[in-house]
Amino acid sequence: MRENGLFSSLKLGDGVYHTLMPGKTPGPGRVYSSLIVGSKRALLIDTGYGIGDYRTYIESLTDRPVTVVNTHGHIDHASGNCQFGKVWLNREDWELANWHTSLEMRRSSEGSADFCELLRDGPWEKLPLEEGAVFDLGDRTVTAHCCAGHTRGSMSFLDSKTRFLFTGDNITRRVLLLDSIHSTTLPEFYQTLLDTEKLDFEKIVAAHVPYLIPRSWLGKVKTIVKAFDPAKGKPPICFSLRLPGIHPLEYTVGRDFDDPEYCGFVFDAEHLEEFLGKKNFSDPL
Ligand SMILES: [Zn+2]
Repeated sequence: MRENGLFSSLKLGDGVYHTLMPGKTPGPGRVYSSLIVGSKRALLIDTGYGIGDYRTYIESLTDRPVTVVNTHGHIDHASGNCQFGKVWLNREDWELANWHTSLEMRRSSEGSADFCELLRDGPWEKLPLEEGAVFDLGDRTVTAHCCAGHTRGSMSFLDSKTRFLFTGDNITRRVLLLDSIHSTTLPEFYQTLLDTEKLDFEKIVAAHVPYLIPRSWLGKVKTIVKAFDPAKGKPPICFSLRLPGIHPLEYTVGRDFDDPEYCGFVFDAEHLEEFLGKKNFSDPL
């Protein structure tokens, strides 16, 4: 398999590149990483499945020194970290990232198994990413904000120049809130939406969406979360993840992924009480 042509980028705004990464992801979408180029430094948000020489590709887009951050620790977002040495990631997702970025996991995952011969691997150092961390790129800054939901350690990144908010998998067209260990409850996710609403952003850049999402989308997600009726959950469309012990259902509006209004989330009908936050977590186990 040839490495040439593995990566391609969309320019979403002034100094903002959205790079299509090799590998398959659940649903019809592919996964993107984002590069923000400032006058002195660049910030790379996520690194994909770790397929091919992504670092050389990034260095073809910018000659500035590159700082790397992760929106969260999932396989399709953090597995290329080893090519960059040090990566900022919320501690809440460190263990998840150890598991998801392992060669064993990537060789067996449906998303990257077809690219086994191109998987890059090696050590990388985790740096603790926290609420309010500011990355000074020279003529612009990017600020990290907690964005828990899809994973407990999910973070968003606000670019001062474009007012774009990079949300990873957490505020997007369909949010997976499936994994009761690593995802939050629905009330916690709702709190994240309220906190995010206070941020001064204009557009959303999501990791599986190739275009800018308007700010108003946040209100749409909030409305759907508030109206949640588990009885109206249905089998998820375009969904290939097989997770033992989990019964995924989606609560969405819109016809299908081709419908631009399609929006909602996937939940685990097997663990509904925990998801709704009714369980008393202070009880001894
Ligand atoms: Zn994810």
